[in-house]
Amino acid sequence: MTTTIIGFPRIGHHRELKFATEHYWKNKIDQDELLNTAATIKANHWQAQKDAGIDLIPVGDFSFFDGVLDTANLLNIVPKRYKQLNLSPLDEYFAQARGFQQGTETVKALPMKKWFNTNYHYIVPEFSKGTDVKLVGTKLFDEIQEALQQGVNAKSVITGPYTLLKLSRFIDSTKPADFVDALVTAYAQVLQRLNKQGVQWLQIDEPALSFDVDSADKNLFDKLYQGILATKGSVKVLLQNYFGDIRDIYNDVTSLDFDGIGLDFVEGKYNAQLVNQNGFPADKILFAGIVNGKNIWRNHYATTLAFLNQLNTDAKIVLSTSASLLHVPYSAADETKLPSDVKQHLAFAIEKLAEVKELDSIYHDETAGQAALAKNDALFKNVKHPYKQTVHDRIAKLTDADYTRLPIRSEREKIQKQEFNLPILPTTTIGSFPQTKDVRQNRSKLRKGEITREEYDQFNEDKIRRIIKIQEDLGLDVLVHGEYERNDMVEYFGEKLDGFVFTQNGWVQSYGTRGVKPPIIWGDINRTAPITVKASVFAKNLTDKPVKGMLTGPVTIFNWSFPREDVTPKESVTQIALALQDEVLDLEKNDIKIIQIDEPALRENLPLRKSNWYSEYLDWAVPAFRLVHSKVQPSTQIHTHMCYSEFGDIIKAIDALDADVISFEASRADFTLIDQLVAANFQTEVGPGVYDIHSPRIPSEQEVEDLIKQLVTKLPVEKVWINPDCGLKTRSEDEAFESLRNIVNATKKVRSVI
Ligand code: GLN
Ligand code: ZN
Repeated sequence: MTTTIIGFPRIGHHRELKFATEHYWKNKIDQDELLNTAATIKANHWQAQKDAGIDLIPVGDFSFFDGVLDTANLLNIVPKRYKQLNLSPLDEYFAQARGFQQGTETVKALPMKKWFNTNYHYIVPEFSKGTDVKLVGTKLFDEIQEALQQGVNAKSVITGPYTLLKLSRFIDSTKPADFVDALVTAYAQVLQRLNKQGVQWLQIDEPALSFDVDSADKNLFDKLYQGILATKGSVKVLLQNYFGDIRDIYNDVTSLDFDGIGLDFVEGKYNAQLVNQNGFPADKILFAGIVNGKNIWRNHYATTLAFLNQLNTDAKIVLSTSASLLHVPYSAADETKLPSDVKQHLAFAIEKLAEVKELDSIYHDETAGQAALAKNDALFKNVKHPYKQTVHDRIAKLTDADYTRLPIRSEREKIQKQEFNLPILPTTTIGSFPQTKDVRQNRSKLRKGEITREEYDQFNEDKIRRIIKIQEDLGLDVLVHGEYERNDMVEYFGEKLDGFVFTQNGWVQSYGTRGVKPPIIWGDINRTAPITVKASVFAKNLTDKPVKGMLTGPVTIFNWSFPREDVTPKESVTQIALALQDEVLDLEKNDIKIIQIDEPALRENLPLRKSNWYSEYLDWAVPAFRLVHSKVQPSTQIHTHMCYSEFGDIIKAIDALDADVISFEASRADFTLIDQLVAANFQTEVGPGVYDIHSPRIPSEQEVEDLIKQLVTKLPVEKVWINPDCGLKTRSEDEAFESLRNIVNATKKVRSVI
């Protein structure tokens, strides 16, 4: 055994699982048909891995929705409110994943959160007083049985107890330590079953070791694994980490009785140092994650082999991916429209299997592998990423002044108060208005060539005319054009900028049955023509009220794309920032005096370790944002928007974006962030969301009024804006308009008593 992978995409080559599951939810197919589709998908995926020559094949990585939820259900970590629905196990599982509604009976879904630093989302398990952890599920064992019957050399995969405890929510004043004993017993039961089934390996995923691990965490980890490993029998246990390194707990991990340790040598740059300096026990197997599970470029074999050869250990090495291939699309072979000079550099899941195998052959027999090595090397020598001298010249000339907006914010605040003369507590929205069916149909007709570009634009202009009128009637103070022309806030800009390429089928699971198709950064990035100017100007000319221009920020565009590996993130994000600077200055030139630069993904991509937050991320991300807007006039007002309000720990960095106004999601967080902002003497004007747009609930006028009153007791009233907490694109028009009416009326009431 010399090759394996950590996990494979689950949704199927042509997203069969998505379609089957959604049909099942709509009662168009029954449970048996869904299970059959799943069985076919699994069989195909195992076969693909066998065909590629992967020795040890993960089983149990397949999921109907999410792997963490699978493990929670396997171990009976299911809140009572779902059990009381008396559903079949599969329906009870879906009820947790997406909520349940039948007649008057409704149970909300469990919360969903971002999976480490990826764009995948997991379901957050819930522990409470009543949680009785024990092995009750059969999914893992059923799948092992399926695989063994098909002659698959199976490695069973499960989420580890430490990661499970770290990612879960604890209610009724319970805490992780309360469940250690029960978890040890439950994982021991899992091992017992696997022993009976004759499985050789169990891969226990512990990505949470890539976070900071303190001494209490270490104790927790040690306690769990001392217990579990004592019961492993003849099953070999692989401790699998990914998304970083395990520097805080390396010595504990290597001294415990694991048979294999899986390390990520791509993202976890520090892991090599750990192996070489602290040593790696010769009696364990090192599963070396060397093929990038999170990005889509081909592996450079010579570099990887040189890396492997400098690893100083006598341990046996098995080659693997750095993370599950869940995070890359299925196969680059499906991309028929990409130019071949781009395509030859892409490795999606299927191609990565071949890479693991090929690297392994060369690693073990260098002479035999010479041809493959040479061919691979040629690919990298001949790569031609479109290069634009002007972009590089522009970056080379940047000085501190380019990142500094003058005068300082407090001066600008006075100038802007005069310029706009807005009432106190100005009302606005975040940008998008509902993307109703006709809006999506119009876009799809253009794509299919059923209407002309003129007809398409005409439709959107009619929409803008209508929504401007509606906003005026509602009495909002700062209007928007509604973003009717945008399919997606990143793809829309990517398509209009030079340097990005797009796949036809490059779907990556985002959560459950939802996928995203991230753009790929391929060449130097620049803007060749204005992007949002036309729509903004069209809207502005329809009203006397200020219209806010709207664009996606550089960090979010970068974070939601597949980045290049031959240039630094800083370089790419700076290129995007300069392209957006051109856009901002064009908007300003065309008399758009309020401009919002959205950065919803800024907070969510913080490195996993706190000590890396600044040096590896914020130190280039924050300046990139400033670069976009630093050259505008003092009287031009720059807004930004962030959806996740959990930036209490990076308040200074958010203030350092030097925006004039920030709107953010707050209505669900009970305004705790507000107290933190006050304590930190936050200087940017704030628009805490007073309407949770993620819910179909319409907030009453009274409720919003109370909320605003509460806000102005905490914050200086002249610094507060009133707005929903995100764009309205997913809501119905009825919901959106009624909510906005309540917001505006509530604001007027508060104004009259201040
Ligand atoms: N301006 C965008 C909108 O309103 C912002 C989207 C977002 O933050 N995700 O849709
Ligand atoms: Zn948002």
